[in-house]
Amino acid sequence: MFLEKEQEFLEELLITPSPTGFESAGQKVWTGYVDEFADEVQSDAYGSASGKLNTSFDVATVMLEAHCDEIGMIVQHITEDGYIYVNKLGGSDSTIARAKRVNIHTSNGIVSGVTGNTAIHLQDKKNGGGEQPKWKDIYVDIGAANKEEALELVQIGDPITYADDFDYLSDEILSGRALDNRIGGFMIAQVLKNLNERRDELNVNVVALNSVQEEVGGYGARMMSYRIDPDMALVTDVTHATDTPGIDHKEHGLVKLGNGPAMQHGGANHPKIVEFVEQVGKDQEMSLQHEATSVRTGTDTDSIFYQKTGIPSTLISLPLRYMHSPVETASMKDVQALIELMTESVLAMAPDQTFHVLK
Ligand SMILES: [Zn+2]
Repeated sequence: MFLEKEQEFLEELLITPSPTGFESAGQKVWTGYVDEFADEVQSDAYGSASGKLNTSFDVATVMLEAHCDEIGMIVQHITEDGYIYVNKLGGSDSTIARAKRVNIHTSNGIVSGVTGNTAIHLQDKKNGGGEQPKWKDIYVDIGAANKEEALELVQIGDPITYADDFDYLSDEILSGRALDNRIGGFMIAQVLKNLNERRDELNVNVVALNSVQEEVGGYGARMMSYRIDPDMALVTDVTHATDTPGIDHKEHGLVKLGNGPAMQHGGANHPKIVEFVEQVGKDQEMSLQHEATSVRTGTDTDSIFYQKTGIPSTLISLPLRYMHSPVETASMKDVQALIELMTESVLAMAPDQTFHVLK
């Protein structure tokens, strides 16, 4: 499906921790790869990074965007007996936070720990034992005897990620930590690579942007969109595949793993650019899925579309099961299709491409 080198890049990206606000390790992997074919690689003070293909000064510029950060935890308090209490970074789920192996990322490297889980035999059922914990109840045990010993290894404010990496459940299905949205960084890099190989068909300038700090508010995308000032944007992030047991489709819609990229409609999504990408999908005889956005897309699209005088944007989502858990699961068939859809959409753009709802 992918060349060996591309596969290696994906896997290296997936195993490199990049918790929100501490993304530099992952960004170095991403820029190292993109640097091999981009005309220009840039990064800003907070660590968002972009790779550009320059066609000409007087043609439109399209931005491809994904976020590079992953959710995690952060060291908040260390008790006298050496236990580390944490808070969440981004939308981490406290209900799955117990009994996990974690890595604490310190200035001296990784410190291993486990999140404590009181044994089922000892749980005080009358006083909340066995119930869903809150973040204030989650603690990490790093094997330190006391606070002093813990502080020799770990500081308040060190970020934490789960130790899980990834597995292929089948030839097609990939499962792991932080596919949200490392897989997006992989996809926009592949689109840029494809476009570089097909430069003779390319009519516009292209910038692929891998943004920091999406999980806490879409901040990196905002900063870099202002700097790059593109004429339009194709954004990719994960969306909920709702084809697993117990999800109400009347409430959440139906998106299936392996049925193709999901086009988002409404909110920040510009109707004309949505239509344009859908037409490209039809021309390529691709299977697309559809989702309605009521208020916010919950992605960087919300940060990009209203920058400066407005940047027509569309979110093209990758279906993902078990979002914000260490077993996020996606289909490589969808990954491949999304790369193709983005690549062909950019190639279909005219040198003076604009999107205007009233024209
Ligand atoms: Zn995301």
